[in-house]
Amino acid sequence: MPGGIVTGHSHHGSVLLADRCPLCHRPGGAPCAECRELFSPLGRLPPPPGLAALFAAVAYDDASRPLVTALKYRRQRAATSWMADAMVAVLPPGRPDLVTWAPTSAARRRERGFDQAELLARAVSRRMGVPPRRLLRRGRGESQTGRGAHERRTQITPFRPAGRCVGASVLLVDDVVTTGSTLEAAAAALGGCGVARVVGLVAAATPAPRGSAQPVAFRP
Ligand SMILES: [Zn+2]
Repeated sequence: MPGGIVTGHSHHGSVLLADRCPLCHRPGGAPCAECRELFSPLGRLPPPPGLAALFAAVAYDDASRPLVTALKYRRQRAATSWMADAMVAVLPPGRPDLVTWAPTSAARRRERGFDQAELLARAVSRRMGVPPRRLLRRGRGESQTGRGAHERRTQITPFRPAGRCVGASVLLVDDVVTTGSTLEAAAAALGGCGVARVVGLVAAATPAPRGSAQPVAFRP
């Protein structure tokens, strides 16, 4: 099998494992072509309040959920790379000033050793030739332990600016959008410190009714 996966005994097990599909665990790509066939491609979606537009690579469903979970809990370089390609592919032409992300909580970042939204954002930024910039932090106290469930639910502003906001037009990356409340809160924090235009880009989204089909651009 020319160009195929090298099989047989090898001491480079980690290299081979990197090419295994995180969904079906067979060699042949991460994810492999057969698993990719099961994904439902998305594209432009109705944006949450505060965002000019929202784009998603695939539907968040039974087919894609294991991949999204793999990105979240294990550092999956090949899968992150594939997903970043798929995310950039659904964007319209044009470039924002910066790429940023909706950061995970400090506690989760410590627990997992990385922030999957940041990894996706940096991979997307490389593909677009647009600089990545940390513009947001989780709100103060969010990472404290021992908070009650009610208190967590009623916390309404989990993001604050990470410092001086720069860039009029920002691409905001996250792994999954379901209700849109996380992206809405992140966009509000960006808008509050002077970012004029926020476009959302996520790996996966729960399917929503199609919005208007107007073309979108990073600049009005
Ligand atoms: Zn597979």
